[in-house]
Amino acid sequence: MYNTKAYSAASATSPLSSTKIARRDPTEHDVQIEILFCGICHSDLHMVRNEWGGTVYPIVPGHEMVGRITQIGSAVTKYKPGDLAGVGCLVDSDGTCPQCKANLEQFCPNLTLTYNSPDKHLGGVTYGGYSNSIVVDERFVLRVPDNLDLAGVAPLLCAGITTYSPLRHWGITEGKKVGVVGLGGLGHMGVKFARAFGAHVVVFTTSPEKTEDALRLGADEVVVSRNADEMQKHAGSFDFILDTVSAKHDINTYLNLLRVDGNITLVGAPEKPLDVSAFSLIMGRRNLSGSNIGGIAETQEMLDFCGEHNITADVEVIPIQKVNEAYERLLKSDVKYRFCIDMASLKSE
Ligand code: NAP
Ligand code: ZN
Repeated sequence: MYNTKAYSAASATSPLSSTKIARRDPTEHDVQIEILFCGICHSDLHMVRNEWGGTVYPIVPGHEMVGRITQIGSAVTKYKPGDLAGVGCLVDSDGTCPQCKANLEQFCPNLTLTYNSPDKHLGGVTYGGYSNSIVVDERFVLRVPDNLDLAGVAPLLCAGITTYSPLRHWGITEGKKVGVVGLGGLGHMGVKFARAFGAHVVVFTTSPEKTEDALRLGADEVVVSRNADEMQKHAGSFDFILDTVSAKHDINTYLNLLRVDGNITLVGAPEKPLDVSAFSLIMGRRNLSGSNIGGIAETQEMLDFCGEHNITADVEVIPIQKVNEAYERLLKSDVKYRFCIDMASLKSE
């Protein structure tokens, strides 16, 4: 066991502050990583403030890590010290259930999340990436393309895979009309991927000042969702809509924009339930579904795709000392388009 610096919250109402946490010494299948950058996901905020229930304190959030391998266990074959590595939302799963066998570890009943899951090695709960170092089983470590900006790569480990996976699953290709609701961390990656897959992309935003950015990020059209007339112009026309909104909103408005047999997939996870009118689904045999990050193999496929197509997140890099301020800005939809912590800033604490 060794200690490393981290940022943790002591309760749902406490700010994040500097601390030290224990990490296990690498076992034979483990990789030890010096964390260079860690993205800030809105899920970190939901969890720190216990908006979904079940948060164990102190919590060390962070599941969008990129770093350099510092040490490997004796049985590790995929990596060597000095390699770049990524870690996302998952650090372990049982490997034997039907979901794991189908490369869908994110649905394993015995999965270990990167933070706030029971820690099989040290007891207590797992601690995430707002820290200088982490130890992870090599099966859950991702190879990072070496041609990309590392700060922009970190958010791919959650925001990237969470948007890539449903777009792939629902067959988004050229000729499809795709909506992306909410232009935040997930939304802006959804736009980049839908564009890269050849779709006609329409962004729905509550923030008119994001219009120019949305077009630059790859949208063909931008609709300010508070404008009912603009919304109505798109009624019954979408093949697929990806809803990334983090707070309660009217999903029926978007269901009504789907064509017959169209699909809206929720990846946003608001604290409060959404109301669905039966008629929004009945009229048009529409589908409402959800998606949770992605499996490890698909996450690697996504990173490789990003390497080939030069895709990264648009990040505002911050020192960790600004993390509480960043959370307040997230709540105001004031992020362009992902905060990413430069973990070197933690070393001086
Ligand atoms: P984010 O960066 O804060 O983006 C959310 C965006 O939603 C905002 O930028 C804003 O976009 C829009 N929005 C916020 N409040 C709104 C409201 N009251 N009404 C309408 N639109 C609103 O958050 P994120 O990191 O992308 O995460 C988004 C959600 O996905 C969170 O709930 C998060 O927990 C969840 N998540 C799910 C998964 C999964 O696997 N399913 C993975 C990661 C995150 P505009 O300014 O453009 O309107
Ligand atoms: Zn996340």
